[in-house]
This record gives sequence, structure tokens and C-alpha cells, in this order.
Amino acid sequence: MIICKTIESLHQQLSSLKYQPNNIGFVPTMGALHQGHISLIALSKKQTQTTICSIFVNPTQFNDPKDFEKYPITIEQDILELELAGCDFLFLPSQQEMYPNGTVSEKKYPLEFLDTVLEAAFRPGHFQGVCQVVERLFEIVQHDKLFLGEKDLQQCLVVKKAIEILGKQNEIELIIAPTLREPSGLAMSSRNRRLSETDKENATAIYKCMQEMKKNLSSKSITDLEQEAKMHLQKNGFDKIDYISVCNATTLEAITKWNGTDKVVVLIAAFLNGIRLIDNMRIDGLNN
Ligand code: AMP
Repeated sequence: MIICKTIESLHQQLSSLKYQPNNIGFVPTMGALHQGHISLIALSKKQTQTTICSIFVNPTQFNDPKDFEKYPITIEQDILELELAGCDFLFLPSQQEMYPNGTVSEKKYPLEFLDTVLEAAFRPGHFQGVCQVVERLFEIVQHDKLFLGEKDLQQCLVVKKAIEILGKQNEIELIIAPTLREPSGLAMSSRNRRLSETDKENATAIYKCMQEMKKNLSSKSITDLEQEAKMHLQKNGFDKIDYISVCNATTLEAITKWNGTDKVVVLIAAFLNGIRLIDNMRIDGLNN
């Protein structure tokens, strides 16, 4: 694997590749890699000739400075994992390389409804920061396919919209990959590294709630399902619940009654011992 820390060196390396359509797959990450990330690398390798992974902990998408400071950094292990996965390039820029004119930006991405609900409501500015780094990465890594994980469903929808806003629909194909889970059902996440073994066990309550909601979507009211899930999370030590919300899977509009046909997803964000976990699951019974 070739590691490039500067844009110049990445461009130099890429210019030596013989260009063919659908040649380059891109997997942007913030590092502290786990098998969920590696599954995106594997998918990119299947679908493209050259796979580029980036590791950059983007300060502009953290609304909480403490969360940014505590974000796990495991770069040496990450490099080993990427080598093992057969990744071709790692783009590993500094903050100066990414934002030579500083991180403050006047630009506002018109994300509309998506920038008002769920993650956006609890993490103000988060998705504007995501769009800022995504636009910058698109400029630098001129890829054909972009691989993102459904674990961050709202982020996938935001990036899809950002691709439209930036007029890149004909240049970049967005591929959304399923969430990889631990055998316990806990969604893999870089933040899991900060959980104790007991926390990890308790954290599986999120998965259990989602499964329960899926099982009972046709027989119980959504308000009751959300209330039961809330109680289950609290019983398992979740001290703050940002949201448990059943939404239309395409628009993320909250629904109060399922019409039996729409794609429906439950999204959860909650804190366990100060660590914020998010997850989601299609619960209409049509996909899994
Ligand atoms: P992050 O490093 O958290 O910014 O994540 C980088 C990419 O990996 C994003 O597209 C995430 O949605 C994706 N990802 C994170 N966790 C998982 C998972 N458990 N399964 C699949 N993809 C994931």
C-alpha cells in the first residue's frame, strides 16, 4: 500500500495509473479502523481497480470539542489492517493539508430537512462540517465510486444530497454498504473502543430494541414501540437518549403509523457512560 500524506504526492501516484472508467473507489474514514471499515475496502476492491482509503479526523464535524479530543487514534494498527485488506492507497493528510486557509467556512450547504432532524438536531453544525470535508476530499481524490456505511444512514443521505448540490451526480456513484455487527448485534464503531466489557454487553440493548420494534411494527403503535425501547435502554444503563425514532427510510420524516408498504427505519442515538452510540435498522421486514 502506498501512503500519501500530501495532495501532491497522491496526485503524482494517481497520474501513473492508466485511467479506465470505474477505476477508482474511495473509502473516507476517521481511522480507528474495524471490520466495518474493512468491509467497505473489500467492496471497493470487488467493484473497482484501485482503492483509496483516507484517514482524517475532521475537526469541523465535531460539535463537541471533548469528543474530538477523545477520538481514538490507532494509526499504526490501521495501516496494518489496510495492508492486510489489500488497500492500494492510504491518503493521510494533516489538518494544514486539508484546510490550508483554516477550518472556518462561510459556505452553507442547503441540506434543508436533513439538516434539522435526528443527528442534525442534536449535533448542530455536524453535517455542514461533513459536507465541507466531503467537498474537499472530492476535489483531492478524483474517484468514480464512493463507499459509505449504512450505519451512518443520515450521513449517507446527506452525502447523496451533497453530491447533487456539487453537481457531481454524473461523476460519482455512491455505494451504501450494510452495517457490520459484532456477534452480539452491537454495530461495530470506532467509539466502541471506549466501552468497557460490561458496557459492550449493555450496549447490545440498542440492537435488541430495534429487533423488538421490527417484530412488533404491525401489531403495536409506534408510540408504544418507542416508549418500550426507551425503557429497555434505560434499564441497561443508557443515561441519556437523544432519539428513538421511526422514520421513512428515504426522507427520514418521522412516522406515527406504518402504512404497510413504505420503507421504514428505526434510528437510535443514546449515551452509555458518556459515550454516544448510534445505530439504525430497517424494520419494515422487507430487507432483512
Ligand atoms: P468513520 O470512520 O466512523 O467516519 O466511518 C467511515 C465509514 O465507515 C463511514 O462510511 C461509516 O458509515 C462506515 N462504517 C462505520 N461503522 C460501520 C459498520 N459497523 N459497518 C459498516 N460500515 C461502517
